[in-house]
Amino acid sequence: MTDEDKDAAEDIRQAAHSILKQEVTHLQLVPSVAVKLLKLTHDDNARADDLTRIIETEPTLAARILRNVNSAAFYLPNKTTSIKRAVNILGFSSVRQLALNLLFYNRMIKHDPKQQFNQLFFWQHCLFVASLSRAIAVALKHPDPDLVYTAGLLHDIGKVVLETYGRVTYSDFIESAGNNRQLTVDDERSFFGISHTEIGHVFCLEWQLPEAIKAVVACHHQQPEHDSPFAEYKTEIAIVSFANYIAWVQGIGSIPNHSHPALQQAVLETINIDKLDIERLLHQVDIDMENTREFYGIEFPNLHKLRATLIKATISLSQLGTNSPEPKPTKRLSASLTAPHQSLYPDDFVPKTLAAIQNEFSFDRIIMLISDTKKRSLIATHCWPPTTLSTQLLPVEIDIPQISGKLLTCLRDKKAVLIKSKSDPQNPFIKYFQAAEFITLPVLRDNSLVGLLYADNAISKKPLLEHLLADIMPIADELGIALINARQYDTEKKRAQLDPLTQLYNKRMIDQFLTQLFNNDIRTLNKTAIGFVDVDKFKKFNDLCGHQAGDDALRIVADILRSLTRPTDFIGRYGGEEFLFVLKNTDESGAFAYAERIRKEIERRGKILSQRFNNHLLTASIGVATYKPSFTHYTQMIETADQAMYQAKKDGRNRIILFSD
Ligand code: GH3
Ligand code: MG
Ligand code: MG
Repeated sequence: MTDEDKDAAEDIRQAAHSILKQEVTHLQLVPSVAVKLLKLTHDDNARADDLTRIIETEPTLAARILRNVNSAAFYLPNKTTSIKRAVNILGFSSVRQLALNLLFYNRMIKHDPKQQFNQLFFWQHCLFVASLSRAIAVALKHPDPDLVYTAGLLHDIGKVVLETYGRVTYSDFIESAGNNRQLTVDDERSFFGISHTEIGHVFCLEWQLPEAIKAVVACHHQQPEHDSPFAEYKTEIAIVSFANYIAWVQGIGSIPNHSHPALQQAVLETINIDKLDIERLLHQVDIDMENTREFYGIEFPNLHKLRATLIKATISLSQLGTNSPEPKPTKRLSASLTAPHQSLYPDDFVPKTLAAIQNEFSFDRIIMLISDTKKRSLIATHCWPPTTLSTQLLPVEIDIPQISGKLLTCLRDKKAVLIKSKSDPQNPFIKYFQAAEFITLPVLRDNSLVGLLYADNAISKKPLLEHLLADIMPIADELGIALINARQYDTEKKRAQLDPLTQLYNKRMIDQFLTQLFNNDIRTLNKTAIGFVDVDKFKKFNDLCGHQAGDDALRIVADILRSLTRPTDFIGRYGGEEFLFVLKNTDESGAFAYAERIRKEIERRGKILSQRFNNHLLTASIGVATYKPSFTHYTQMIETADQAMYQAKKDGRNRIILFSD
């Protein structure tokens, strides 16, 4: 640690002391036995013995563990009376996890309903993040998934410290935020003078918790800089941050009814989320949560119920206006309400939601339309049953400015409506679906239109009832939230894959693409060419024309590459003023011709813009390598293309050199 780091740590520690009622060291938040359990993480030898000893010194804990080991769930022929045997049967990691959960749980269960900070809800969040973090760690072959579990369990411990021991509590903070449903770490800082990550960090320091846990607690909202002492744990931090994001997106945040934190780009750069089967992971976590619930043997709402309750509460709040602190009790918890949150991919969760609605309300047809703001129209994207949108009718596209009558009320007043075609014959839906009556519900997020749900009983001719609208509207609201979440997830994911200046794939994606390509069999590779396009004398170009013009020139080169490359080929920005292309099904002469088109076009565009570029010519040298069976790894092929490019520079620039065998 540098002196600067030490000073900063001391400042935070002092801030912590000034806002807490007691010394951090004395906080009875985590019982000492839990701290001992936490420190067991890295110990490989004699772990089971230590664990046994720790549990045996805490009689109530030992009793709970034995009770649960002996419970029907484990189907043991004889009752187990020894903790040691329990550890043998269940394994080190599950006993440790159960013990930890139990210890924390006992502290957190005492929720005072008058307080805004709901400890039970918070606890659910921590368990979810812990469980998902471990599942991700296993999927990414992390060497110590248990450690990641614990880090996930404790990541938000700072919030509990503030709530339990603050002169002003976390509940006060939530209360003060009023209508602001997007509370950030900075908001915490301006309210308490310290954030939950900082106070959590102080707590970990005082209790001497393992370094990796400290790192996750301190950095899960802001990935560490490369020179930070926590940079070593960036994988653990990224896993927990990502699990935290998913938890919020799923409605299992640490505070009910609040928006989720942003997904940080550094997270996506550290862990390759494309490798993760998120759906499978979530399924696993659901099972894990169910087991935890069983373990407690007390009324602990199951996951679906919790999600549904949260969703209902959110909706009631938004409907009542946010001044009402107590959400109205909800009438019904339905499967349709949770369906939108079962995945981050609309093609997955929209059909599931439509199916759930049909199942529950038994409409004949349900159609989801998405609002396209550019075209100012509503476009049908999904339907249920899947045969509803027959191919002759597709695409269903409804021009928003043309909408009138009751459907306009639906869009303008953001209200669900039941429309009879007799009284509203101009309705555009009639043209497509020919139903005598139908309902439409606006799908909203933050009061702006995301899409529209359409449902009818055109086949069975069952009458539609007005009172259904109020029951389905909450589902439309959930769909709106889920669709925006999915969009945000998609944008973030793209952002992590693209170079911000040129919008071409970045180096990470290039490596990923080439790795996959080289996993293919030789027949595909045989007709593959890789080339580098390197702008000539670009340093001088920047010096002469300025960095801004340099950036423009790079964008121009990128546009040229984009416009002259087939969709099946691949282009990316390799770095600085160097671009890379990969051509499939292309022989030597084809590759050369492609490179020549690129070279010529760069030169031509440069000439047109020469005035703007202070008469500096924009040209590029291109080096190409075609595949040889002696290449065992893509780096060898890249190396050859690079040498060809170097040769092109040596030979006078603005030319192509192609190396083949
Ligand atoms: P050569 O013809 O041998 O390739 O000479 P060069 O000057 O192009 O090569 P060199 O690698 O020495 O310099 C590359 C320059 O590209 C240096 C750097 O200032 C500039 N550069 C790299 N990335 C960017 C960028 O994003 N924007 C701008 N404007 N310039 C960049
Ligand atoms: Mg947090
Ligand atoms: Mg260059």
